[in-house]
Amino acid sequence: MTMQGSSKRKAEYVVPPIDGDFYRIADLLDAKERAVAQRVREFMEAEVAPIIEDYWARDKFPFEIIPKIAGVGIGGIGYEGYGAAGGSMLLNGFVAMELARVDSSTATFWGVHTGLSAGSIYLCGDEEQKQRWLPAMMRFEKIGSFGLTEPLVGSATSGGMMTTCRREGDAWLLNGEKKWIGNATFADINVIWARDEASGKVKGFVVGKENPGFSVKKIESKMALRVVQNGWITLKDCRVPEADRLQRADSFKDTAKVLRMTRAGVAWFAVGCGRGAYEHALRYATERSQFARPIGGFQLVQDLLVRMLGNVTATECMVLRLGQLQSQGLMTDEHASLAKAFCTVKCRETVGYARELLGGNGILLDNHVGRFVADAEAIYSYEGTREMNTLIVGKAITGLSAFV
Ligand SMILES: Cc1cc2nc3c(=O)[nH]c(=O)nc-3n(C[C@H](O)[C@H](O)[C@H](O)COP(=O)(O)OP(=O)(O)OC[C@H]3O[C@@H](n4cnc5c(N)ncnc54)[C@H](O)[C@@H]3O)c2cc1C
Repeated sequence: MTMQGSSKRKAEYVVPPIDGDFYRIADLLDAKERAVAQRVREFMEAEVAPIIEDYWARDKFPFEIIPKIAGVGIGGIGYEGYGAAGGSMLLNGFVAMELARVDSSTATFWGVHTGLSAGSIYLCGDEEQKQRWLPAMMRFEKIGSFGLTEPLVGSATSGGMMTTCRREGDAWLLNGEKKWIGNATFADINVIWARDEASGKVKGFVVGKENPGFSVKKIESKMALRVVQNGWITLKDCRVPEADRLQRADSFKDTAKVLRMTRAGVAWFAVGCGRGAYEHALRYATERSQFARPIGGFQLVQDLLVRMLGNVTATECMVLRLGQLQSQGLMTDEHASLAKAFCTVKCRETVGYARELLGGNGILLDNHVGRFVADAEAIYSYEGTREMNTLIVGKAITGLSAFV
């Protein structure tokens, strides 16, 4: 990290450990799961942290990390069989947090691949389909995407999806467009959701990148999650065999099962993103001096740090409980929505404080925090905006739907 203005005073006092786990939530994992989380941390710090600012600045994806991620063994945490890593959904949350603590783009790549895409097949595919696609995905040999959002329909996809599918003999014809689809510029396995022209029900399909009716254009010039390669997919009379239709996806309710699972993961991303920014800011506060003393010794700087730590700790405790409920099969849509909305709000606040603490240096990519500020904006909006998640919780607690 570039630390301009470091002072010799740093040597005059002992800097406490830089650790955003103030309430020791990692102690609640068993030894085996703690080792997995530790492996992820070591991988992220050794392999991703040193290269990510450069890729972020260039809007490129570091393909060389894919086999290395595979080696960490984090494909399909929480799934059983099919070569999946297994473990609890609580562990899945910790892994999500560890990834985002260093880089939210890498976390998003992983979440789209193993959560949204492989998760759709795991939850909505039949046995033959799971056997056919999941093992290669769990080994990161085949990468997945998840196409739900459309150019004209974002929050309203449940009722307003415009992409259609029409049965023709033993195949389906898909027509429409999908926007914002993470990994889609290079994914092998694209899960596409489309509305059946006959029944009006939403169905899921697996579309290969080589399908002549499938084309994808990279979305350029993003100001957040720049490493994630988001695609704009066009489906033009895209012929998909019935065998590649997800056999257990009969309506949007099945799509929603996937989103419930991954929305909880995004809450963990928000905690990781806030925690990473806090830890960078704390380190900076001990290394940067002004007025001949480390800035961490100023009351107003400590106020920023403690506000950040409060946000990180409160949200860590919230997702910890969410992960326990998820592991026990007790997590509802509204549980996941409350955590996603609340943790992303707190994350956005935390990264803002971190940037403030770094002064002008906070906007230099070399100092990392600027990337966290930008990336928090995307996490805040994807997988259901704050407003949509609020409406889900509002309906649950009042019994009244405010959806229009
Ligand atoms: C970086 C990134 C990655 C993404 N990756 C994927 C992906 O891999 N796959 C995928 O399918 N999608 C993906 N998305 C899409 C994402 O899920 C959508 O952006 C999100 O659901 C919001 O939809 P929208 O952007 O169209 O906003 P809109 O739905 O147009 O909403 C605009 C604003 O209106 C508000 N609003 C809408 N309806 C209501 C209402 N009824 N009441 C109150 N307020 C309302 C929203 O909260 C928001 O503030 C990604 C998005 C981003 C930015």
